Amino acid sequence: MQELKEQLARRRTFAIISHPDAGKTTLTEKLLWFGGAIQVAGEVRARKAARHATSDWMELEKQRGISVTSSVMQFPYRECMINLLDTPGHEDFSEDTYRTLTAVDSAVMVIDSVNGVEAQTIKLLGVCRLRDTPILTFINKLDREGRPPIELLDEIEEVLKIQCAPMTWPISMGKRFRGVYHLYDDTIAFFDPQAEKGTAEIIQGINNPRLDELIPDQVDEMRSEVELVRGASHTFDRAAYLAGKQTPVFFGSASNNFGVQSLLDAVVDLSPPPQPRDAIVGNSVGNSVDKLTRTVTPDEEKFSGFVFKIQANMDPKHRDRIAFVRVCSGKFERGIKLKQRSTGKTLAINNAITFMAQDRNTTDEAWPGDILGIPNHGTVVLGDAFSEDEDIQFTGIPCFAPEHFRRAQIRNPMKMKQLQKGLQQLAEEGATQLFRPIHSNDLILGAVGTLQFDVVAHRLEFEYGVDCFFEPYNVSTARWLRGDAAMIQQLAEKSGVNVALDGAGDYVYLAPNRVNLNMTREKYPDIVFLETREIH
Ligand code: GDP
Repeated sequence: MQELKEQLARRRTFAIISHPDAGKTTLTEKLLWFGGAIQVAGEVRARKAARHATSDWMELEKQRGISVTSSVMQFPYRECMINLLDTPGHEDFSEDTYRTLTAVDSAVMVIDSVNGVEAQTIKLLGVCRLRDTPILTFINKLDREGRPPIELLDEIEEVLKIQCAPMTWPISMGKRFRGVYHLYDDTIAFFDPQAEKGTAEIIQGINNPRLDELIPDQVDEMRSEVELVRGASHTFDRAAYLAGKQTPVFFGSASNNFGVQSLLDAVVDLSPPPQPRDAIVGNSVGNSVDKLTRTVTPDEEKFSGFVFKIQANMDPKHRDRIAFVRVCSGKFERGIKLKQRSTGKTLAINNAITFMAQDRNTTDEAWPGDILGIPNHGTVVLGDAFSEDEDIQFTGIPCFAPEHFRRAQIRNPMKMKQLQKGLQQLAEEGATQLFRPIHSNDLILGAVGTLQFDVVAHRLEFEYGVDCFFEPYNVSTARWLRGDAAMIQQLAEKSGVNVALDGAGDYVYLAPNRVNLNMTREKYPDIVFLETREIH
């Protein structure tokens, strides 16, 4: 189908990764502004604030001034349709942050020029690496006195183990910041904080005498630095970028709108369109099902997509949820009949929504790379898939080992059932995980960020009427156990206090510390201790 090919070729689906305060919200807003999706910068923050007002548990976000949930923004730019997936930026992020990265085809990494590579950038880049996601880098806040750009690139290469290919080069920084030189277009964009879109003038050619006029005291330094950079840094290599081995680097100042357009153009010109996904497919043959692994390509005409995120309704009185589906192949049309993998049922999808930055619209059609929101009452699960006729299960949607653990306790023992139900349902949304040690009746909650415990306590109270509190629990990390069933059984008998079942009934080792984990590993060499588990 020609239209399918054209539509998918113009899709770009990406997320921004960064450490808190590097400027992700500012950059998101400016990207939307340059994309014409919002009229005035400031709307994103305002909209976030309005959203906060809509529910009680969201109240928690408001109190902390952060965004717990991530969202999706779609807007047209040049010949493309851009899908920007937002990931929570606070230090206390959740698994959603990680899992959203499995639904994108590329990422933009924002680095604060003053702080360089920070802890959360390292973690998020590690997640991108699981799928070799191509990454563009934006070094932000050049209007401040930051670290020397060469040093920043060295740090990225060393700490993040990815080659840097500067695409632009800054002319000084802080008070002396004059703009950037585009190494491949041979143009200089002059910085002017007063200009509406951050750029005062664009000059062609590094040897243009106009430069000597404009920055007489900086031009020599700039020319020699550019020469040095050309000689000493990697040249842009598209194949290496697409393989996740090299990152093209742009410099700018998001709050001053500077460098943002070059970045958005790079998303259109360099970033990949929707990519193929691995899946296990099954076709009914008589009474049995033949399963095989294959790659689903976006240009296949039959629709398919997977659920990477479940979000509770903003209104706690209605326990419905929205399942975020990444379209992997084919065309979605309102009313299309799709098979849901987890239930095996076929449904007519009439009420899916898309996320045009202006508004949240009920959609008529969607294409590979787009995100659909499917309202449901808890019948759609994380990792679920929707497809036309074929049974399909996308692989590689991960569950991450939590790093924080708490034991759930209630003040009123009569509410035990509600507590169990609430924890189970909230765990199904995927922001926390529930573990049941095999030798006790404890309910252990694991999360990637500690803020999730507050969210869960708050929601248990408001949505399930359970007043619960969380106690510290002496576990520092979890590993899923794979291997010989008899060996796992033996481990469960010997170290029963540390072995638990997760929500899916999988065996998990809860390690009090690294030393214990390493010792147990050595004792049971035939068991594999996995840090991530694929959702089935
Ligand atoms: P996030 O936590 O990554 O979403 O970061 P924000 O976008 O909220 O930005 C954090 C702070 O950095 C805010 O006070 C912004 O105004 C500021 N900021 C963002 N971009 C720039 C920039 O280019 N220059 C300067 N000086 N400050 C910036």
